[in-house]
This record gives sequence, C-alpha cells and structure tokens, in this order.
Amino acid sequence: MTAGYVFPPAPLPFLPVAGRREVFPVQRIFCVGQNYALHAAEMGAKAGSAADIPVFFMKPADSLAHDGDILPYPPETTALHHEVELVAALGMGGANIPESSAAEHVFGYTVGLDLTRRDLQKQAKEAGKPWDLAKGFDNASPCGLLIPAATLDGLPRGAIQLMVNGETRQDGQLADMIWSVPRLIALLSRFITLQPGDLLMTGTPAGVGPLLPGDKVDAHIDGIGDLSVTIR
Ligand code: MN
Repeated sequence: MTAGYVFPPAPLPFLPVAGRREVFPVQRIFCVGQNYALHAAEMGAKAGSAADIPVFFMKPADSLAHDGDILPYPPETTALHHEVELVAALGMGGANIPESSAAEHVFGYTVGLDLTRRDLQKQAKEAGKPWDLAKGFDNASPCGLLIPAATLDGLPRGAIQLMVNGETRQDGQLADMIWSVPRLIALLSRFITLQPGDLLMTGTPAGVGPLLPGDKVDAHIDGIGDLSVTIR
C-alpha cells in the first residue's frame, strides 16, 4: 500500500487578535538572529551593526502554538532552549519597502517564543550545514494575542522578559535591538516580497537557556502582554 493524495487542506495557522472576533491568518514566519548584542556575546559571536544585513531564517507557519498550550518536549534533542521575542505581524506586504514607512506595514505585535533545539543548531553550525530542524519542529513557535499597532503609541518599547517556574531568565529592553522593526522589514523586503500574514520574530535578548519537562514558561513584553506555555 502507498499513500494516496486526497486530503482535506490543512487549516491555516492563525493568531487571535485583541478586541476582535476575527483571527489573523499566518502565512510565513521569518526570524532574525542575534539582534541583541548581549545575546550575540553569549552565543560566542561578535554583534553586528545596523548597517549590516542580519541573519534571516524561517520557521514553518504550522510550528505555531498558542498561549496556555501544554507542549510536548520535542524529539531528537536534549537541549530545548527558550528565546523570548517581539513578533511583528504584517498586514501589508511589499518589496523594497522604505524603512521610513515600514512600520505602517505592521498590523500588530505579540509576544513569541523562538524555541530552539540548541544541540542540533550547534552541530549544524559546526558542520557548516543548515539548521532548519533546530528551529522548525512541531510547536516551535508559540505566540500570544496580537495587539493591533493602531492601538499603540508608536513602536513597542520597554522590557522584554521570560521567567521559568517563576524565576527570571531573560530580562532585556526592546531599545537594545540592533536592527529596529522598521529596519528589519526594509532589509528583509530587499530579498523577498513580503506578504500580508507574514510574521517577523525580531530576535531574543540575553539569557537563553534550557527548558525541562514540567517547566512553566511565562514571557512578557511591556505594552504588548504575556504568553505562558508549559513543557510536558
Ligand atoms: Mn531567535
């Protein structure tokens, strides 16, 4: 027996939106590496500058998970790491978007986790191989409630934090991002045409570390909200 090809289309991944019954349909998840100097340092790397092109990578859209989820500890790793990140959700796409108007392309913001199989990532880096499977796996991208940008006073600012079992592990400031949200959108849109529904995970502050089965993870961004998940 071999598999046929008739199947119902997979449901579109989505995020809930504050104050709305409608959900935000997610197309793709783009991510940026080492957007905070202290995190670059803890990874043993030299921090880039805003004039450079950062490392962009992707996670599959169906790796989304949601606030309150209980996530199985993923297979093929002994080093599942947390990375709390500000996530921008694009309501408008485009190519070669000017930095000066890039913020207008953001529909909303939320708190996200760029969960990472750090051991696989390290092995891949050392071998000069791609690290897709270190970043893209089931439930690798929990994201919270989307806060419409129209309800915010400018770009998100303030603290970005993560606690594990009530203990603070990451405590950074959005102001310490090397590449701002508008700059990231402008740079990424030079390489690909962005689409409405795309998410951009904007990098993690210092303090990344391992998660163990049973851990409760609480992430917070000032003015945006909270995201909690538990590892089973
Ligand atoms: Mn990350």
